[in-house]
Amino acid sequence: MTNDNNPTFRDRIVTMNEEGKRNWIFANQPKGKYYNARTIVGIILLTFLFAAPYIKIDGEPLLLFDIIHRKFVLFGVVFWPQDFHLFVIGLISIIISIVTFTVVYGRVWCGWACPQTIFMELIFRRIEYWIEGSGDQQRIRNNGEDTFDKFWRNSLKHAIFILISLVITHTMLSYFVGVETVQKYIEGSPTENFSVFVALMIFTAAFYFVFAFFREQVCSLVCPYGRLQGALVDNNTLTVIYDYKRGENRGPMRKDEDRKAVGKGDCVNCHKCTTVCPTGIDIRDGIQLECINCTACIDACDSVMERYKLPKGLIRITSKNNIENGQKFRWTPRVIAYTTLLVALIGVLVVLFNLRSDFETTILRVQGSLYQTLDDGRISNIYNYKIVNKTTKEADLSIKLLSPEGEVQLAGHMMKIKEQEKLQGAFLLKLSREQLNGASTKIMIGIYDGDELIDTIESTFVGPN
Ligand code: SF4
Ligand code: SF4
Repeated sequence: MTNDNNPTFRDRIVTMNEEGKRNWIFANQPKGKYYNARTIVGIILLTFLFAAPYIKIDGEPLLLFDIIHRKFVLFGVVFWPQDFHLFVIGLISIIISIVTFTVVYGRVWCGWACPQTIFMELIFRRIEYWIEGSGDQQRIRNNGEDTFDKFWRNSLKHAIFILISLVITHTMLSYFVGVETVQKYIEGSPTENFSVFVALMIFTAAFYFVFAFFREQVCSLVCPYGRLQGALVDNNTLTVIYDYKRGENRGPMRKDEDRKAVGKGDCVNCHKCTTVCPTGIDIRDGIQLECINCTACIDACDSVMERYKLPKGLIRITSKNNIENGQKFRWTPRVIAYTTLLVALIGVLVVLFNLRSDFETTILRVQGSLYQTLDDGRISNIYNYKIVNKTTKEADLSIKLLSPEGEVQLAGHMMKIKEQEKLQGAFLLKLSREQLNGASTKIMIGIYDGDELIDTIESTFVGPN
């Protein structure tokens, strides 16, 4: 899609002027159904983000990524490094689902669910509107003289920004060390945990810098996901798009004008869509890498269309193919391939998750060992065992033979095993000759925590032919 009205729009990013200095974006606050929906989604996500560290399931937090103790909790389920394969598959599934989602729906994540956008648009920019007025008022004040009015508004705004950055940093930290530990840090003196204090201050400064100054540059210049868009989005992708066929030729609305008759399209060139855009672009220039699909321009344009009694949707969510050829969404081979891969990965993840047990047990006959004939005529084999306790509680374990009948004799004492600890040793298994089934007999061993059978292992018992 080309734009004859602004052929130079790709020469430089919109947030930079000709001298290479920052063009500050004073975005106006959108109004409309998409903005309202986005507000609701944002409130739900923010509530979850700030509440999740406090929510416990069976004493475990809803989410925890304790890297130091190598303990991860997802929705109350504890994962240890032994479950790393689940994490890897989970991570690959998330990446594939993001890719698939982007191929079909474009950057809907960026505009609607990304923490950067939600914090920026739902918290920081709203505080700005509240203290400094609309984007236009902010621009006028910013370009005007230095007055006390400008000073106090600026100071109040930045003081609140720093305070919120502190809250965000502490919330993020509680995802890594747990909310109780953060509580202790807050109650203690900074000198007690000086390195933590320094790290907190650095992250607070980083959040403050991002939301007070760097802003949309994160999406336009830094975010790797944003940079991937060029490779993921195609002509079939649903995205926020300006219907240039309907909109052009753009021009102001004159009273009682028959726009068709004078060769004008529906775009009245009011620039409302550009004044609400948080990344400062003009969507009428076509699909752009900076567009985060926030839909603010849709709300702005719909309100203009309503005012002039023109059909809404001059800017809407659709595909480039739909605008150019009227083509509806279709399942392209790329979408089918990504979706199939995603479904397969989720299937593997569900199976592995269901197979995952709280205890990981390995029992192997000692390599190279043969059977022994005991004084009472029974036959014995020696086995090595290794048991990992993946729960968060100490377990009182014992090994029993489930079939056939026989005796387990442990070397040493059994067998308290603390959470996330590994226990290994050896045991003798004694069977009477009647229980044997030739040179190799199948046996079933049970691992018990108290009276509860927690794992079963199949193995073999060797005896005389
Ligand atoms: S062009 Fe529209 S959808 Fe894209 S970032 Fe700007 S306002 Fe949001
Ligand atoms: S808001 Fe709509 S009518 Fe106004 S300039 Fe943008 S596209 Fe044209």
